[in-house]
Amino acid sequence: MNLNTDSNHKERVDDVGIYIHIPFCKQACFYCDFHFSTSLKKKDELIDALIVELELRKSEFENDTVATIYFGGGTPSLLSLEEIETILKAVYNNYSVIENPEITLEANPDDLSETKILELAKSNINRLSIGVQSFFEADLKLMNRAHNATEAKHCLELATQYFDNISVDLIYGIPGATHEQWRENIQTVLDFNIPHISSYALTVEPKTALATLIKKGKIEDVDEVHAEVQFHMLINQLKEAGFIHYELSNFSKPGYFSINNSAYWKGKKYIGIGPSAHSFSGESRSWNISNNSKYIQAIQLKTLPSEIEILSVNDKYNEYVMTGLRTIWGVSLETIVAVFGSDFKTYILAQADKYLNEELLYIEDNNLKVTTKGKFLSDGIASQLFKI
Ligand code: SF4
Repeated sequence: MNLNTDSNHKERVDDVGIYIHIPFCKQACFYCDFHFSTSLKKKDELIDALIVELELRKSEFENDTVATIYFGGGTPSLLSLEEIETILKAVYNNYSVIENPEITLEANPDDLSETKILELAKSNINRLSIGVQSFFEADLKLMNRAHNATEAKHCLELATQYFDNISVDLIYGIPGATHEQWRENIQTVLDFNIPHISSYALTVEPKTALATLIKKGKIEDVDEVHAEVQFHMLINQLKEAGFIHYELSNFSKPGYFSINNSAYWKGKKYIGIGPSAHSFSGESRSWNISNNSKYIQAIQLKTLPSEIEILSVNDKYNEYVMTGLRTIWGVSLETIVAVFGSDFKTYILAQADKYLNEELLYIEDNNLKVTTKGKFLSDGIASQLFKI
């Protein structure tokens, strides 16, 4: 098996992606710093605005074909089937879409009743990304997740009956969660025969409820060493189960790589629709305002409430290094020369020398990659290879 490829992962240079941000959640998870509102009052207006934004921006992709559509959030599973289909119709009406695009919906276990899953299975959604995070009640309560452990298992039982392409999110490094519980969490996902897992360390973002609770001593602080041990447990347990560790936080059975996310990591273009959504044109990055009311007002006036940053050569190089090092594909030294010039290759090799000697990086087939030992430190190593 060639670990660098994925049978589902047919690449076409002109393929692009559309990300649609659904900024509503039932309740606020303590660790979350994404943009969302727990009030659904503006849901209808917001959906109308998403449709108008899709229309307003169609010229950005007039020469491209959309290969992936991703409903993220927030909690897209709060939308009804009708609302999802209305948004999808606007995508199809305004963009050229390949015949069988990957269409992902992020969903939370408490929304996935059998009726809901049956409805989704009849729609064009063909991939579910389910925010389980843990199967232990204490973990879910500590993070203020809206679902309980029984719902987490029940939704996987149902989802696997109707969907083949499912990803489950798990969080490690939760204070108080033992290594044995973490092993059990991973095993439970494997027992459901889920083909894709995304897993992140619990991080304490400033201004979150988690940061405040830790500061007040109500919750134990996260322990990086504990998290690192669990990260390596994850790598080993999933490797034994036949998963490919294709991105730092993503593991997949062959044939189930996220096409949408792989496109981000490979520097392909995407547009992000909705409040706080980010877009990448190849030459610039832009981001919409993170405020539902202001977003709706601007779109109603047919203006885009976004800011833009034109990327310098160094910015593009830094992004390529950062994302490349996180993936199984690594940083191609050939691409560095072709896109940025041979000076950049000389630079990156000089910067990488220390990490190559420490066996945190290695070179394989002219690609610079992180070793298993270096994986937990990958973002920090990447930043040492940046050009400022
Ligand atoms: S459901 Fe997701 S987006 Fe909503 S608060 Fe929780 S982590 Fe954040």
